[in-house]
Amino acid sequence: MARIDGARLLADLRALAEIGRWQTGVHRPTYTAADMDARRWLAARLEEAGLDTAIDGVGNVIGRSRRAGPRFLLGSHIETQPYAGWLDGALGVIYGLEVARSLPDIAIDVAAFADEEAHFSPQLGSRSFTETLTDHDLERFANRDSGQPLMAALRDAGLADRPRLRIRDMAPQAYIEAHIEQGDELESKGLRLGVVTGIVGIRQFRIGFDGVQNHAGTTRMAARKDAGVALVRFASAVERAFPSAAGPRSVWTIGRIALEPGSPAVIPGRAELDLQFRDVDAGVLDRMEETLERLVAEAGREGPCSVRMEYTGRTDPALMDPRLQDALERAAERHAPGQHQRMPSGAGHDAQTLARLVPAAMLFVPSIGGISHHHTENTSEEDIVLGCAVLADAVDELATAAGNGLPAGSLPQAGKDAAHAL
Ligand SMILES: [Zn+2]
Repeated sequence: MARIDGARLLADLRALAEIGRWQTGVHRPTYTAADMDARRWLAARLEEAGLDTAIDGVGNVIGRSRRAGPRFLLGSHIETQPYAGWLDGALGVIYGLEVARSLPDIAIDVAAFADEEAHFSPQLGSRSFTETLTDHDLERFANRDSGQPLMAALRDAGLADRPRLRIRDMAPQAYIEAHIEQGDELESKGLRLGVVTGIVGIRQFRIGFDGVQNHAGTTRMAARKDAGVALVRFASAVERAFPSAAGPRSVWTIGRIALEPGSPAVIPGRAELDLQFRDVDAGVLDRMEETLERLVAEAGREGPCSVRMEYTGRTDPALMDPRLQDALERAAERHAPGQHQRMPSGAGHDAQTLARLVPAAMLFVPSIGGISHHHTENTSEEDIVLGCAVLADAVDELATAAGNGLPAGSLPQAGKDAAHAL
């Protein structure tokens, strides 16, 4: 079994959390002075670990092993949401550093992808790394709070003239990202590890209702075309119909409602809602979308308001590699028997971007109280160390299998072993 140094792991996580520290958490938005200090700090740690390290043209910190042989890429992100927690992202990156130090005979590369947290654009760094971002994209992105153009931020951070590194130049066998769960499922079930089956796809729609704006005192109830009433009826129809269309882990949210003109003495002439749903199964997403279309058609037929629906966002589910899941699960069982489960990720992660090009997997550790994106975000030291030990053990097993010419994730087991020996 791979042997990690738990004290060294915790010390590095704590040292990184000092950079941009805010209360018990961290404030390190992408490309700020604190964020760039953190990137340089990480680059120095990766160099010390013997990795050839560079900070690239979008701020990705990439450490490359000098070893030959099957390569494994471990990582996550190190910038944070505003005034957020110390483990979101940092955990997976420092795990990568610790696993690379603990398994020096395996070609382990480590990445901290820039701007997963979308201060400029979601998963900017991993999309650059997988070449799904154009130069034109870089020119049009701007900071979501300040409006500062991305190119100006890259110039200020001293990154603008650097090359952007690409996954194709590293060709890893697999990408594995450890992360805090950011929910309370593991904790509520008394479990310590989650092997991620996939990252949910998201479909998002805007539903608009057109009625007639009029005087709230003089317009008879029977004569009204109240877009607000149409919206409320529709929203409750969604709540009634979705449970039978959804899967056991689907989630849906009406996150925004607007009435026009939005005055107590005026019957709303227009109303609008934003509805989003998520699941890891594209078939379930299709079923929910069909249900939504049916409800829109029914609402339009019933009147008196007209109803329209438009797509406002879509990401497809990203399935994690089954063989990698198996390896993580076996390692979890060795270290914490019966204290792990497979589960989807309801939040987006860099692994969904990487999964398009390379077998990818994720390992979750519990978030105390399910809290994240807040300075009280935390995970017990025991669980932090356990997660890293499991990751190291899984990588060790995968490298052994790969060294024996088996695909990533295969283990020389009974039947397969015999076949391989032939
Ligand atoms: Zn994260």
